[in-house]
Amino acid sequence: MYLKSLEIQGFKSFPEKTRLTFDKPVTAIVGPNGSGKSNISDAILWVMGEQSTRTLRGGKMEDVIFGGTQKRPQLGFAEVSLILDNADHTLDTEFTEVMITRRYYRSGESEYFINRQMVRLKDVNELFMDTGLGREGYSIIGQGRIDAILSIKSTDRREIFEEAAGISRFRHRKEESERKLEHTEENLVRLGDKISELY
Ligand code: ATP
Repeated sequence: MYLKSLEIQGFKSFPEKTRLTFDKPVTAIVGPNGSGKSNISDAILWVMGEQSTRTLRGGKMEDVIFGGTQKRPQLGFAEVSLILDNADHTLDTEFTEVMITRRYYRSGESEYFINRQMVRLKDVNELFMDTGLGREGYSIIGQGRIDAILSIKSTDRREIFEEAAGISRFRHRKEESERKLEHTEENLVRLGDKISELY
């Protein structure tokens, strides 16, 4: 699997539709300070489902939408698409090319698409789980991340190794099942109360 291209529109400092094609094994993005280099890696994180505005270097989610300049008005939505070559089927889908799209409106509405089909955030998370990509992945190492990894709790650090070992999927499923079980137990208690009220 490899990153083929990225399309950005209305995201941070990219008001115009911009397509970046990564057709070389190594791509370097160079530019003066503040020209938008980190906004490109933010766009990659964002389209893969990042929810933390702090990780995206903003205060609120609306900050990812082009906020306007003296010459240009602000835009109403941001859209990013990530196109991945999946000929080796690293991503568990029949498609040999996978396009993930995320759109966010100023009204607060979010939309996610996989190959232009509207999906839930959960589907995007599941697609990337155990691949090292995605919001819990380690494919993007931002400034200060190494320090953060070294200083986090050992239980949190374990999650990084679990992702690399390909077992996060199972931890997530276990947590989901435990939540459902807890919910069912609560319902059973409620049901018991109702029954005892009736008799
Ligand atoms: P450095 O080399 O200093 O790390 P950089 O090239 O990585 O800089 P970025 O941090 O990617 O630069 O981009 C910062 C620029 O993006 C700033 O000029 C900022 O005004 C602009 N920017 C960020 N969010 C928005 C937004 N929502 N709307 C318009 N411009 C934005």
